[in-house]
Amino acid sequence: MTCRKIYGLLGYPVKHSFSPAMQNAAFSALEIDAEYRLFEVRPEELEDFLGSLAKRNIYGLNVTVPYKEKVLKFVSLDKESCYLKQIQAINTIVFQDGIWKGFNTDIAGFFRHIQENIDPANKRVAVLGAGGAARAVTYVLASQARDIFIYDIDRRKSEDIAAMIKKLFSGFEIKVVNTIEQLCLRDKDLLINATPIGMKETDPLLVKEEMLHKDLFVYDLIYNPPETKLLSLAKKVGARYANGLKMLLYQGTDSFRHWTGKEPPRDVMWQALQKELPECQR
Ligand code: NAP
Repeated sequence: MTCRKIYGLLGYPVKHSFSPAMQNAAFSALEIDAEYRLFEVRPEELEDFLGSLAKRNIYGLNVTVPYKEKVLKFVSLDKESCYLKQIQAINTIVFQDGIWKGFNTDIAGFFRHIQENIDPANKRVAVLGAGGAARAVTYVLASQARDIFIYDIDRRKSEDIAAMIKKLFSGFEIKVVNTIEQLCLRDKDLLINATPIGMKETDPLLVKEEMLHKDLFVYDLIYNPPETKLLSLAKKVGARYANGLKMLLYQGTDSFRHWTGKEPPRDVMWQALQKELPECQR
């Protein structure tokens, strides 16, 4: 008899996530005896938790705030994933060939979805937020775009990302700014929200209507709600826009592939994600 393999999302706090619905639908569709759970682990318990994965029958995890950087020292990186040392953000770990390996599927997930919407080549980009997701976003865009302006309430975080990008893409222009006004959105082609601001009904709108224009593409990594205040404003000014639900799908299908070695049932996973949204918003 085989023992059910456990996968899950590690973070603190782990708020309502769409990943269990998406991954469990995939396991079920392929008749894989596995389950995806949420693991809310306090920082002081992280070390013990990571040491107890085998005992818990855990074979793979997604990793979110605040552990994307911390798990780096726990995993080995394949030759193709060595650049993640510089990016300092791992969102998927898998037990393979007797060791834990780390990957970042946000990178491919974002790359794929942004390309479905806009060709980032030579575009002028503004990024709000300089956390783990912004690391994936700026890495993708620095290989394509003309330049990136980045703003975070914590300037040091933007500076860390700028230093990382300059190291990886010498000569690429990434500018850290002190205010949202200094992002100069009227000159930009692409605005990315990589902050969590917009998830809660009470969250403020970070940009003003007069900052946006109809030739701007606005991408919000938030997927719940599917239309944040930022995206409603983009719609109002006639700009094109997208939320992060497809990015979540694509990062999830890549994680599934790492964990199972099988081709993920993408349509099943997409349907499961959509079912997580309130009916009126699908
Ligand atoms: P994170 O590591 O916490 O980064 C968010 C950054 O935004 C932090 O540096 C935060 O600063 C900053 N910030 C907060 N309020 C701000 C404000 N008013 N103005 C400017 N910066 C502000 O989170 P993350 O993992 O990067 O995730 C960011 C968002 O992307 C979340 O909503 C997450 O759900 C979403 N996401 C979506 C996908 C997807 O597949 N669609 C994948 C990954 C992430 P402080 O830390 O000082 O608050």
